[in-house]
Amino acid sequence: MIDAFTQRSRIAYFSMEIALRPEIHTYAGGLGILAGDTVRSCADLELPVVFVTLVSRDGYLRQSIGEDGRQIEQPDPWEPERWARPLGAKVAVAIEGRDVWVRPWLYRHKGALGYEVPVLLLDTMLDENAPQDRDICRSLYGGDSGYRLNQEIVLGIGGYRLLRALGFEIETYHMNEGHSALLALEMLHGHRHLNGNTAEHAGYDPEVARQHCVFTTHTPVEAGHDRFPYDMVEGKLKGVVDIAALRAVAGGQDLNMTRLALNLSGYVNGVAKRHAEISRQLFPGYRVHAITNGVHVETWTCGSFAQLYQRHFPNWGHEPEVLVRADGLDDAAVWEAHRRAKLALLNRIAQETGSSLSPDTLILGFARRMTGYKRLDLLFSDLDRLRALAKTHPFQIVIAGKAHPHDEDGKRVIQALHRRKAELAADIPVAFLANYGMDLARLLTSGSDVWLNTPLPPLEASGTSGMKAALNGVLNLGVLDGWWMEACIDGTTGWAIGDADLGTADDDAEDLYRRLEGDVLPLYYGDRARWIWMMKQSISKIASYFNSQRMMRRYASEAYLR
Ligand SMILES: *Cc1c(COP(=O)(O)O)cnc(C)c1O
Repeated sequence: MIDAFTQRSRIAYFSMEIALRPEIHTYAGGLGILAGDTVRSCADLELPVVFVTLVSRDGYLRQSIGEDGRQIEQPDPWEPERWARPLGAKVAVAIEGRDVWVRPWLYRHKGALGYEVPVLLLDTMLDENAPQDRDICRSLYGGDSGYRLNQEIVLGIGGYRLLRALGFEIETYHMNEGHSALLALEMLHGHRHLNGNTAEHAGYDPEVARQHCVFTTHTPVEAGHDRFPYDMVEGKLKGVVDIAALRAVAGGQDLNMTRLALNLSGYVNGVAKRHAEISRQLFPGYRVHAITNGVHVETWTCGSFAQLYQRHFPNWGHEPEVLVRADGLDDAAVWEAHRRAKLALLNRIAQETGSSLSPDTLILGFARRMTGYKRLDLLFSDLDRLRALAKTHPFQIVIAGKAHPHDEDGKRVIQALHRRKAELAADIPVAFLANYGMDLARLLTSGSDVWLNTPLPPLEASGTSGMKAALNGVLNLGVLDGWWMEACIDGTTGWAIGDADLGTADDDAEDLYRRLEGDVLPLYYGDRARWIWMMKQSISKIASYFNSQRMMRRYASEAYLR
């Protein structure tokens, strides 16, 4: 069953999370969504890639909101038996001196034209493992830093060994973030044994790994870069890795997974042009390329727009570039497709929250991981100003997003939002949809009228939800950061908040209100024809370029075929 894949796969893509489908809870946010869109594009383009991730049986978290507006988290289990098959192969990795056996599940993703892409979901829930080791692949981003290191050992070292045990002959290893960087170390280790060297006589030779490794960094936010103290690493990996040699390639202070990946990769990239520039400043001395993210157009286009595209551009799913001609679509048909998407969102809001929003009033949508730098609170920084705006031109706000269980700031943002919602109740309808995931993302990025993005620059590496919005004719209103710096043509594809230089928070809030008052709301209610013209500009200019097919062609030609 795996043979067809072992023979043709030449590239292995490692990611802590992958969003394969809504029922498979092996993802938390944008990183996993990007990995999932990568799987889907590899199937479309017939790229010989095998994916490796963790099975994460309990998912990331299931979110509900308590009476006090606080987030309540529960496990979010899924059933591997329903979607994947266990493979017979298994390998052992020694952690704290115990053998931890790792076994993969095989999930097969089939593209629209029938090409299948294999995804290996690593699991340690095996009878032969000590009880404390069985749960290593249970909870995505759960537990403490020792638990995280265990997961990264299983992903990097376990994943690398499994591919070899299964007979894969991999030429290129792509590390999606630093979580899997131990694979590069394992590669060096294996190489050193082959040469018969011992720890005393030779350090690692990074060149060996650089020929085979590609590293994509995804965030300039410090918490996004894992670091582990060397005494912890030594306790877990004594005898498995050579700590002295590791220090030379992974940082002298502590094991820095980003540093390790940077040192052992022959090709490094950021996920937008601005992000690559910022990464070069963060990591001086490394050559950081830019490959701007994209989204899988077929996955993120709602039903009504999919029908419209199908009528005019039969090949749009396979070749989203053809949407460059969407600016010629019929106005009434575009508006009708949008109205249907909006009604679907309103239905869901009514079902889940009991509030009925109006289809004739503008919806401002915002859905993100709830964490400080995404600045959901910017919109609510002056409630009187918001109320005054709504008196002249009414609008409604729809929000979704989870906070990481350890992110107290993020949780405070959610709680504060629920207070704002109550304070605004008489003037502006605000709806919060709990448990943001692929399903809700699809509804929200197609059913809103305007998609709001207000990160603190330069911390948004790329952002992809705005791309999903654009290909559904939803107009972006966003701070100039990440992908939006490349996609925003003000007044044509959407609107900018702030300017390209790094401004201050106060200015951004003022600018946000000014754009709503002076541009967005008057256009929506006063010049529908121009609004629809912008929708079509946004579809044609953004969907034709910010798609994951274009992204994967670039990875293939620039990173994989070096
Ligand atoms: C697209 C998506 C994201 C990423 O959105 P950003 O704009 O990058 O914050 C996160 N979570 C889900 C569920 C998504 O679908």
